[in-house]
Amino acid sequence: MICALTVLALSAGAAAVNAAEYNNAGIEAYGRNEWREAISNFEKAYELEPQHETVRHNLCNAHQAAANALAKNADFPAAVKHLELAIGIDPTNPAPLVQLGAYYLRLDMVPEAILRLEEAIELKPGDLDAHEFLGQAYYLDNDLPSARAQWEYVLEMAPDRPGLQERYQKAFREEAVEGDFKRGTSRHFTISYPDDLPTHLRGQVLNLLERAYLEVGRKTGGVYPPGPMQVIAYKEEQFSEATQLESHVGAVYDGKIRVPLTERGEFLNEEELRRRLTHEYVHVVVRYAGGPNVPWWMNEGLAEVLSRNLSSEATTMLRRAHQEQLAFSLSDLEGSQLNVLKPDVLRLAYAQSQATVELMWNRFGQRRFMQMLSDISAGVAPEEALRRNYRRTYSTLEQEVAAGYL
Ligand SMILES: [Zn+2]
Repeated sequence: MICALTVLALSAGAAAVNAAEYNNAGIEAYGRNEWREAISNFEKAYELEPQHETVRHNLCNAHQAAANALAKNADFPAAVKHLELAIGIDPTNPAPLVQLGAYYLRLDMVPEAILRLEEAIELKPGDLDAHEFLGQAYYLDNDLPSARAQWEYVLEMAPDRPGLQERYQKAFREEAVEGDFKRGTSRHFTISYPDDLPTHLRGQVLNLLERAYLEVGRKTGGVYPPGPMQVIAYKEEQFSEATQLESHVGAVYDGKIRVPLTERGEFLNEEELRRRLTHEYVHVVVRYAGGPNVPWWMNEGLAEVLSRNLSSEATTMLRRAHQEQLAFSLSDLEGSQLNVLKPDVLRLAYAQSQATVELMWNRFGQRRFMQMLSDISAGVAPEEALRRNYRRTYSTLEQEVAAGYL
């Protein structure tokens, strides 16, 4: 996204000479990947020659490069600040708008992403990155027909965009189910629900989620993801059709909270609904605090710890698994492909994850756990993040958990 820098063409006068010197110093710093120094020099040139296109262009590029470097370390909030500055300096350049749209998506700031990506496309219609990101933003905003239109255009132009065909098919399948769903909102959530859902249930789902928002926010030491967060409530057959998940899956978070409200034709009771919604909402918080690389066991373990107590059946199962040495290792529990395990094996995986996170959470408090997530978000490998914050390896932690069940 970074264009080459250009040398300043001189007009007459001392200001222009000084501006050219600062510009050259900026180019030199840029070449050494010293973004701060490059920005500071280009800023001085810009102060002297604010209308000069080359100076504006170079300053804008330097902010984009600085943002890019920060994003590599997952510091998206700081990256966003550079891009906002870049856009102010060179408002006709679509590149920082696309970059900013992508970062807002990463920060789950969907309305902000939509605004910036629409601006980018206005300046440069046909930019495939901008159209693809905008499709994603519309999708996350649960505007499925608009998302589909963006992605159809991109796929027509470039059928081989990595992963896009799959996302397109998924949205298409969901739209077939959710096409005529109604919408409702609360302070932090937007719900889509089937037309014939009893009114009090829609209110109940939103109320339980708002309570989860407060409670999980408090327990995690103040993690409050930006809203509105999308929730889709289904009947069980609609849930399976839209998600292609089997019936033992109680709900799912895939960027939106998806929850079936019925089981074998009956509406779930309030306690079961509270448990499922709280569990999925914890995934929203984990994704917000820890980014996309949090291992499965930490994510599911925390979701379970904050939504229910370990049942006596689960405790018995854990005891048996540890005595018979059938327990998983933590590295077995890393990837998201675990969701394809058979239900009873999956139950053990969940119980082990819960027992492990429970030990970490109860013994050392939320602060260390949240610090570990923040390290993972900044690109630290999960086991290294564990070692830094708990002075334990996977293997020592496994033994400690197992000792509680022997
Ligand atoms: Zn889960």
